Amino acid sequence: MSTEARNTGHTPEPRAHLAEYLEFMRDSGMTERWGRGSFRWAGGAGRHEAELPGDAGAAPSATDIPAPSFSTLEEVREYLGECTRCGLSEGRTNIVFGAGNPNAKLMFVGEGPGADEDIKGEPFVGRAGQLLTDIIEKGMLLKRSDVYIANVVKCRPPGNRDPLDGEIAACEPFLLHQLDVIKPKIICALGKFAAQTLLKTTEKISSLRGNVYEYHGIKLVPTFHPSYLLRNPADKKLAWVDVQKIMALYKEL
Ligand code: SF4
Repeated sequence: MSTEARNTGHTPEPRAHLAEYLEFMRDSGMTERWGRGSFRWAGGAGRHEAELPGDAGAAPSATDIPAPSFSTLEEVREYLGECTRCGLSEGRTNIVFGAGNPNAKLMFVGEGPGADEDIKGEPFVGRAGQLLTDIIEKGMLLKRSDVYIANVVKCRPPGNRDPLDGEIAACEPFLLHQLDVIKPKIICALGKFAAQTLLKTTEKISSLRGNVYEYHGIKLVPTFHPSYLLRNPADKKLAWVDVQKIMALYKEL
């Protein structure tokens, strides 16, 4: 996995986080995909604006319109549209936006859609998805419909490769919008990619897991990705320790 440019060693406020990514996109020459105007984060209290430089040669597009104030996931999804903001759009069948309870206290964040998810347009529906469902329903004694599940990138990387930094930069603002709307109390980051992306670190998942982090006032518990657990079943016992941490936090809510 490529992790360069994601090791800032801190967890900025969500809106500042979004601004950082927009700046990263600008530095990556990706502003044309996002349009010429200012992108406005206006969800929740307060407002943050990150100015993007103009591209006088580009034709106006829907992405020139400043982001609205999102109060529902439907609005975020509508704004995402038939997204072509990064190259992952070229190989996808469906955008996998996310699924679950829009008022969830617990949110799972994975890496990106696989083949099954790409076909169905739903997150975690293959074998790894079944394991995640078992973790939620048999391990946590919750319903899958109680939680919300999303990924860092919403289109399938070809051949299930790791998402590239520019692809994460293009897509992560939508995850932040989802978090801003759902306002979960606990995030379970599934696998190194989600954990490293959210925590802005290059530390291994084996070091990150087993701990509880603060992510903008949200408890963040990293654990192994279900796909990893299918390949390495011996580590399920460590994942179970993480699940118990999550449940202890959940009971305190
Ligand atoms: Fe758009 Fe995200 Fe898909 Fe890239 S991965 S095309 S940013 S929805």
